[in-house]
Amino acid sequence: MKNIFKRVPGLMLALVLMMTATLPAVLAAPDKSCGCDGLPLIVVQGFGATALYKDRGGEKEVIVFPPTDITHILKTVAGKAPYIIYGLARGIQKNSMDSFVRGLLPAVKPLFEPLRCGADGALLDPLVDCAVFPESMAHYGEEDRGLAMGHGIKHGETYGWDHVYVMTYDFRRGVFDLAEELGGMIQKAKAETGHAKVNIAAHSMGAAVLSAYLAEIAEPDGFGDLNNVVLTSPGWQGTSMIGDLFTGGVELNYKAFQRLFTGMLPELPGFVPEKAPAYLFNALFWGLDRVGFTAGFNRFVDSGFRLYIRDMMKYWQGMWALVPRERYQAARAFCFPDGGGPEEQALLARLDRYAEIQENSRLVLQAMQDADVGFAVVALNYGPMLPIFRSAGLVVTDRLIDLKYASGFARVADLDGAPFAAQEIDHGHGHLSPDGKIDASTAYFPEKTWFIEGLDHSNYAPGESPSEMVFWLLEGGCRGDVRSNGQYPQFTVYE
Ligand SMILES: [Zn+2]
Ligand SMILES: [Zn+2]
Repeated sequence: MKNIFKRVPGLMLALVLMMTATLPAVLAAPDKSCGCDGLPLIVVQGFGATALYKDRGGEKEVIVFPPTDITHILKTVAGKAPYIIYGLARGIQKNSMDSFVRGLLPAVKPLFEPLRCGADGALLDPLVDCAVFPESMAHYGEEDRGLAMGHGIKHGETYGWDHVYVMTYDFRRGVFDLAEELGGMIQKAKAETGHAKVNIAAHSMGAAVLSAYLAEIAEPDGFGDLNNVVLTSPGWQGTSMIGDLFTGGVELNYKAFQRLFTGMLPELPGFVPEKAPAYLFNALFWGLDRVGFTAGFNRFVDSGFRLYIRDMMKYWQGMWALVPRERYQAARAFCFPDGGGPEEQALLARLDRYAEIQENSRLVLQAMQDADVGFAVVALNYGPMLPIFRSAGLVVTDRLIDLKYASGFARVADLDGAPFAAQEIDHGHGHLSPDGKIDASTAYFPEKTWFIEGLDHSNYAPGESPSEMVFWLLEGGCRGDVRSNGQYPQFTVYE
């Protein structure tokens, strides 16, 4: 008995200490809620939303990806001019494209080596990174806030910039790593705003990051942190372009090049159709093709891939998430012949795991909706993809992603193809676009997939109808279906 009485003051003290320690936390939690009608929005940006720099903010700052810093490129390449001349001479002398490319490599390597990753996917150059925004957008300026895209800007103006978070990242990082970071940002947004749930707008490659997050983190947790989720121009099913890239299918497609260029002619300043009719340009392309320009370019790229490009880019693990699943095994075999070396197995295991997540994304998104999370997909449709890929030509894309993949496998007629006579699956209501070229009845989520024609990949400008629509979807419109709002039908043409 005595012992107990002896202990009581100690116990009391411990209890008091515990209470005083936990009391502020208990009191603070409800206080932190701003009580507004909205929720925090997290915009998961796409591939290359912010450029990769070397020595960012330092004296020697230079953009290393995308390779747009012309002064830097010219300076680097010019310094290596003797190599180029030697390579050119060797190439001509031996009539060998490989010799030419080998001669060129010393000039090109300094441009790309900062982007090199290890065989396990690790980033090697600590001086290379991109601008990231770990805090809410209240902490950043107007220019950075543009990364939230039109719908995020409207969200910021409606609920305050402390309710908008934007995730940008180095595309070479793996999606599982990025998924964890997204999970951390969601918890931070909840804690800072006091709201119990968040909305998410995942753009382009951001949809692949989201897929990994949903499968690995959110589903085991019952999707409790999520309110509404909208995918914009999503890379959740990959894109032919990256499928081509990772199978060595970069090539100049003469027809696609011609189509793209003549399509752009009327937009060029000072272009007068009567003075320079499109057939003149067609004749020019035809001539270039006939003298072997196309074939020469393709041989050049082929050598470049075998001698350098493939072994550089295959360790950029984030980009693998953009390989469509029907191309994955071919891409894996192309980049890692004989199943890869021992030091590559850890990376390959992660790539395989994501390929499985992409394959099963329909299931996890269905489970998410069953857990009462709102969901919608917005796919843009512009025309042909960039004409330097094998798949370019007839495939309908938003320039970067095939409409077929972005929409989660709607049936899409070729650019030159005949419209569909009827939709493939009878829903008892229509899912065929007015021009008959898109059949949404086969899409993963036909009631939740919206199409906008006439805009390219990232075109969600403030105040324009696409971002207005995404804002409406994020605000709860995605809880209805493609027939619930006459202002936003399943198919619209952007004027
Ligand atoms: Zn609030
Ligand atoms: Zn339906």
